Amino acid sequence: MAISCITDLICEECGATYSHREPVNTCRACGGLLECRYDYAGVAERWSRDELLRRPQTLWRWQELLPVADASNIVTLGEGGTPLHRCPRLASRLGVRAVYLKDETVNPTATLKDRTFSVAVSKAKELGIQKAMTRTSGNAGASFAAYCSRAGIQAVILSNAWATEQKLAMIQVYGHAVVRVRYEQAAEIRKALDEVQRRLGLYEFTNFINPFRHEGAKAYAYEICQELSWTAPDRMIHPMGTGGGIHGAWKGFGELKRLGFIDRLPKMTGVQPAGCAPIIWAYEKRLAVAAPGGDLRATIAQSIASNFPIGQGKRPLKAMYESGGCGVTVTDEEILAAVRLLGAEGVFAEPAGAAPVAAVAKLVSAGLASPEEAIVCVVTGSGLKQPSIVRPLFPEPPTIEVAETPDYVEALLARLSAR
Ligand SMILES: *Cc1c(COP(=O)(O)O)cnc(C)c1O
Ligand SMILES: [Zn+2]
Repeated sequence: MAISCITDLICEECGATYSHREPVNTCRACGGLLECRYDYAGVAERWSRDELLRRPQTLWRWQELLPVADASNIVTLGEGGTPLHRCPRLASRLGVRAVYLKDETVNPTATLKDRTFSVAVSKAKELGIQKAMTRTSGNAGASFAAYCSRAGIQAVILSNAWATEQKLAMIQVYGHAVVRVRYEQAAEIRKALDEVQRRLGLYEFTNFINPFRHEGAKAYAYEICQELSWTAPDRMIHPMGTGGGIHGAWKGFGELKRLGFIDRLPKMTGVQPAGCAPIIWAYEKRLAVAAPGGDLRATIAQSIASNFPIGQGKRPLKAMYESGGCGVTVTDEEILAAVRLLGAEGVFAEPAGAAPVAAVAKLVSAGLASPEEAIVCVVTGSGLKQPSIVRPLFPEPPTIEVAETPDYVEALLARLSAR
C-alpha cells in the first residue's frame, strides 16, 4: 500500500494536472508552478492524535501528506521533529506574551533545508532520477549533497562565489562537485541554469520549480500544532529567500484546519534583509507579484539574500495576505542583536536564522503585532555555518599563562558577580 495519500499535481495558473509519477518541474502547457494534491478523506482515515504520537519523531511521521508513495524510496538522515523551545525571558525582552523558537539548527546539515531535500531527493529517487544539479548560497547545496549521497544520486552544485568555507566544506565532504559562480543578479544565474537545463534535461531542485521541496516545510505546521496540544500559535515568523518555507508552512496549517486538527490559523509573517527584500517591498505596496530587486551583497543574511523572486513571489505574498500576517525587513544591526539574544537562550543562529527574532521587537513597536501574542520564530540555520559574523560582537578571548590561571579565574568570578 502506498504510504502517501498524494493524488496528482495541479498547475496553479491553468489547472492542468500531472501524474506524481512523472518527473515534471513546471507546467508544460503554461510554465506555471505545480502544487501537490492529496486525498484528504484518506488522510483522515489514517490520522488520529494517538496514532501520530506513536510514530518516530521525524519528518516522515507525516508520510500521508508527503509525496513519496513507496517507503523504500525514503532518503532520511533524521530531519524534522526539531525542538520547540518556550522562552519566557526572551518573550519579556521582546515585549510579547510568549515566544517559541522552532530550532532548525539541529537538523542533519544544520538548517531547515533538510526537510525539503529529504522529501525532494526521496521523490527524485522514486522517479528514477540519477543525475541532479542545484544552485545555492550554501545551505541548500550542503543539504542537497548530503541527501544525494544517501540516495546514490550524482550531484553538481553551483554555489554563489561568496559561500562560506563551512558550507563549501560540507558539500565536498559529502562527495559532490561544487563550482563557485560569480554573478550579481540572481536573474543571471537563473538564465544560465535554464540553459543547462535545456541542453542536458536535468531535473530541477530549486524551490517551487521543484514541486516537492516545500512539501517538506508543511511539517513545521504539523509539528508546532502537535506540540501546542493541537492549537496554532498566533503568529509564525519565517525568514524568506524564495519563500518556500513560509509557503509550505501555510499550506500545512491549512491542511490541519481542513482535517479538523486545529480550528484557527496563525498570521504568517515573512522577513527579508533590508538591502535585499523584493518580496517585502511588494507586500508594502500590497502587490500580488514581486519584481526583481535588491543587492545580494547588501546583507550578512546570505542565506536569504535573493533578488529574483521565483514565481514572482506570488506564493509567499499569498501566505501573508490570506493569513492576515505581514512582511517586515530587518537590518544587519538588528540581526546581530538577535544573534546575541538567541545566544542567551542557548541557541546559536546564523544571521538568516536570527532574522525572525529581530522582527518581533520591530513588529510590536510598529503596532503590527500585539503584545498579547504567542509567536513562533523559526530559527532556520546554525551559526556554525557562518561563524565569522560573531567576531565583531565580542572582544578576542584573552590568552593567559597557565601559572596565572587560579588568580585570573578568582578575579574574573569576583568581577562577574559584582555586575
Ligand atoms: C534557505 C534558507 C532560508 C529561506 O528559505 P526559503 O524557503 O528559500 O524562503 C532561511 N534561512 C536559512 C538559514 C536558509 O538556509
Ligand atoms: Zn499551466
